[in-house]
Amino acid sequence: MVATPSPQRVSELEREARAALAASADEAALERWRTATLGRSGTLTQLLRSLGTLDATARREVGAAANTLKNALEAALEARREQLRAAALAADVHAGTLDVTLPGRPRRRGALHPVTQTLREILAAFTRMGFDTVEGPEVELDEYNFERLRIPADHPARDMWDTFWLDEGEGAARLLLRTHTSPMQIRYMDAHQPPIRIAVPGRCYRYEATDATHEWMMQQVELLVVDEGVSMADLKGTLQEFARALFGPERRVMMRNSYFPFVEPGVELAVDCFVCDGPPRPDCSVCRGSGWIEIMGAGMVHPEMIARAGYDAQRYTGFAAGMGVERIAMLKYGVDDIRHFYANDLRFLRQF
Ligand SMILES: [Zn+2]
Repeated sequence: MVATPSPQRVSELEREARAALAASADEAALERWRTATLGRSGTLTQLLRSLGTLDATARREVGAAANTLKNALEAALEARREQLRAAALAADVHAGTLDVTLPGRPRRRGALHPVTQTLREILAAFTRMGFDTVEGPEVELDEYNFERLRIPADHPARDMWDTFWLDEGEGAARLLLRTHTSPMQIRYMDAHQPPIRIAVPGRCYRYEATDATHEWMMQQVELLVVDEGVSMADLKGTLQEFARALFGPERRVMMRNSYFPFVEPGVELAVDCFVCDGPPRPDCSVCRGSGWIEIMGAGMVHPEMIARAGYDAQRYTGFAAGMGVERIAMLKYGVDDIRHFYANDLRFLRQF
């Protein structure tokens, strides 16, 4: 039974509702109060619904009062809820179940591994020079890892790559863990036409004893450029730009003769020592007094490889280069042992 709506009825309802709210001592009681007062068949809702039985003037007056009350009761409900929460927290603290004197637990922020940071820096430098980044398989065929890079089975250069062989395939189809990122030169040339300008990052594996400068797994970045009219000058200019991006704008580079079966001529590229930064010091542990630091191998792509990829070797030339990411990271950060990178010792890793 609903009483006729009137200003008195509104005041009465407010008194009752506020008293009931003050008596509600937990979340369940608050919810019961909300249903009984503001719910679909709650007292205030019914009062609002019955306004239609009044004449226009009374309806305006009582309607305004009832709507004001509705807003006020909603706010009162939230306030009561907050009050109960604060009281519960205070009770917990008082009872000792919550010790606010305990120090907080900071969330530790992770960071990228120093080799990953260096890899990204290397790739960013080449991306700015217009290189695309592509990746290749770590499990590779003898054909791509050796054969087509002009390293046949009886070639003495195979001694340079002690290999993890897998028990599948024979001859050129035999599977192995790639020893360098160079196989991707072949794979990419097989699938694309010049102009080619790619950087190939990835893990490589060598079956050898580890020491301060050798790991059984390392990351490399390979470069390959093939186009009309590519010369040694392009090779030197590109790598000089790279060396300056990584080691400082004042760096000079030097190329020295070297041998890799898949380039002709082959070079080793060195930057002047950024630790000595001037006349070489005999006791410098980075350049060992020579004033120069080797950072990668490079050379002009062997014409045989250009021809075997199906390109016109009279028309196209190219250069390739390869570097060890850990070696670059060691130089950049002054790390003296490559094994630190993969020992997972947080005291080491947190320094970067
Ligand atoms: Zn030096």
